[in-house]
Amino acid sequence: MIDNGPSYKILFSPWRLTYIRRGLRGKLECFICQYLRENRDDENLVVYRSEKSVVIMNRYPYSRGHVLIAPKRHVPSIEQLDDDELLDYSIVLKATLEAVENVLEPDYVNTGINIGRVAGAGLEEHLHIHVIPRWYNYDRYVPDEFNEEEIFKDMLEICLNLRREITRILRR
Ligand SMILES: [Zn+2]
Repeated sequence: MIDNGPSYKILFSPWRLTYIRRGLRGKLECFICQYLRENRDDENLVVYRSEKSVVIMNRYPYSRGHVLIAPKRHVPSIEQLDDDELLDYSIVLKATLEAVENVLEPDYVNTGINIGRVAGAGLEEHLHIHVIPRWYNYDRYVPDEFNEEEIFKDMLEICLNLRREITRILRR
């Protein structure tokens, strides 16, 4: 039997329920747009901002180092990106994959993308690609005894390490 690596500590996606929030002016806003608007990248676990894309730690990760890569513009699918956005997105995706390999040394990586109107609340989802580092022999993404604060500290440390590594890769 193939070992699928670390088990999913969280088997559902509660973030779907809080995906869309009301922003300052009562406007419906997704968390990606909210984080882009706010200037609290460490607190929001925003890993990296390029000119047209953003990398964010997934708050409800399937494994340690699970990140989302999104264009800055709120569009639901790849076809709506213009050529400049697509090029920027590809470069950031490639750098993020390399950074995840270097920082977390996973056995393999899952990536996935949902396309279409799945956000609900009458608002189209903000396009994002999941990058999920996986290991053969870990069965938890963080130790069981970690409390919420320790999990956040662990995620922030990974966030800062990935930021440093992506910055280094893109400066080459
Ligand atoms: Zn958005």
